[in-house]
Amino acid sequence: MHKSEKLWLRAKAARRRVVTTPRQTMKWALRFVNDTQVDQLSERDWDHLQAEVAVFIGEYPEFQRGSCYVGIKSRAFYRATAEDPSPLLPSKQEVAHYQAEARSLFESFLHPPDGAPFPRTIWEKHIAVDLSLKYFGPNDKHSSFSLWIHDKEDLLKVNLLLLIGQFAPNVKACKDCDRYFLAKRTNQSYCSNRCATRVMQRRKRGRPLHKPGKRGRPFGSIQSRAKKMRKPGISPKRSSP
Ligand SMILES: [Zn+2]
Repeated sequence: MHKSEKLWLRAKAARRRVVTTPRQTMKWALRFVNDTQVDQLSERDWDHLQAEVAVFIGEYPEFQRGSCYVGIKSRAFYRATAEDPSPLLPSKQEVAHYQAEARSLFESFLHPPDGAPFPRTIWEKHIAVDLSLKYFGPNDKHSSFSLWIHDKEDLLKVNLLLLIGQFAPNVKACKDCDRYFLAKRTNQSYCSNRCATRVMQRRKRGRPLHKPGKRGRPFGSIQSRAKKMRKPGISPKRSSP
């Protein structure tokens, strides 16, 4: 198989894992910040992650947001050249750096710096962008506003901020295990029944609440079971560029 063909297939598979719906993208981002140990991945897992990060950077913004279409169309800045046939594919070092940046974005969202103005500013930075507005004509009220961002890292952060913004009241850190998660209710404090139950049992036994017990089952046993039971209810919905 030709190299570019292989790459195309990798991106296609990654797209299915990362960008079918915003909620799925958020779940991917949470897995990335919570669970991924970049330097300990098998070759196959690294292959997957590398393509997923490239897809998140380059393709996540192709969603319609509410009634207003805002596109961040920076793909053109990363067009393949002879020297760099896959300009969006990040190195391991880059991905580790992105992960640290992503974690600090989640962190500053959940714990904004003291004195942050209201509405809370979670991230402020000057980014060089090009803007364009496309108007489709008098009979078609649809128009699109596009931002062109020149830097891959900035693009990743902007995508992440849009994602966090979209799910803002439900983005939380578990009070027991500290992992970031998407809450079903805004007053939910724990990422899973497992964490909630553990805290409840500690309370019953009069132990300190937020300290892992000694006899805990291996992490993920209940979660993965719950995952299997959950129906894959999200249908792919993508607005075409
Ligand atoms: Zn938890």
